[in-house]
Amino acid sequence: MTDCIFCKIAKDEIPASKLYESRNFMVFLDISPANKGHALIVPKMHAQSLTDLPEHVAQEFGELQLRVSKAVMQSTNAEGFNLLLNDGRAAGQEVMHAHMHIMPRFSTDDFHFKWTHKKYGEGEVQEYSERIKTNLT
Ligand code: AMP
Repeated sequence: MTDCIFCKIAKDEIPASKLYESRNFMVFLDISPANKGHALIVPKMHAQSLTDLPEHVAQEFGELQLRVSKAVMQSTNAEGFNLLLNDGRAAGQEVMHAHMHIMPRFSTDDFHFKWTHKKYGEGEVQEYSERIKTNLT
């Protein structure tokens, strides 16, 4: 996609601190990191959503999450890490090209994920459970 910043990085039209590259993926440092060492795993093909990726690409995505998480942990001496994929504007996605954040975490980093906890009404746990199970192919 011509005006997609991650497509431009994939085509080497703009620079990035690339850590790894394969036929289908690239991994580079986030330019505005939550903590130093914050990396992004990005498929080279343009897909806005994780759900748009073909199965074989999604499989490599999963394998890379494991490998990159280990490398980031070992390289930053982090105490933990977050994997975060913002999928869709409602979920906070700003770059509309699917990508996974690997964020090294420290007990002192003063960075919190917070959400309000909703409550299920009468019968809703079963209702949601059945609906999702039906679509889980
Ligand atoms: P998201 O909100 O999940 O879409 O996150 C997009 C991420 O891409 C942000 O954390 C940005 O800092 C990062 N980002 C945007 N442009 C670049 C770039 N040119 N190189 C590296 N990271 C970038």
